[in-house]
Amino acid sequence: MNIALIAHDEKKELMIQFCIAYCGILSRNNLCATGTTGKIVSEATGLKVTGFLAGSQGGDQQIAARIAWNEIDMLLFFRDPLNPKPNEPSDINLLRLCDMHNIPVATNIATAEVLIHGLERGDLDWRNIIK
Ligand code: PGA
Repeated sequence: MNIALIAHDEKKELMIQFCIAYCGILSRNNLCATGTTGKIVSEATGLKVTGFLAGSQGGDQQIAARIAWNEIDMLLFFRDPLNPKPNEPSDINLLRLCDMHNIPVATNIATAEVLIHGLERGDLDWRNIIK
């Protein structure tokens, strides 16, 4: 499965902890991420992560384009609910595209854990069938 990772600055440490905890499962999938998120995750875990541009430079839109092309199977997007971001509209668009294309998306660690366990159990295998 192709899994995209994005974490706002205040959630980057949480993303690292999540990826350390689920390193085994994540390593059996293809990971991509916005620039800084990808860099810190690969440095902390040794996981291979394809990095796009930084979110503020359009990396989130690069991921959005891949979602529109059905090239992403899951988005783990740890958002900061407290501090509004200058690129908020593209964040909303990203979530809109997930809804449009039925992409499982988690915006907090609780949902991310449910999705990652579901992935491991094979709950998302249907995505291979529709490709
Ligand atoms: P970043 O982007 O991983 O490059 O920091 C995430 C974001 O959109 O804030």
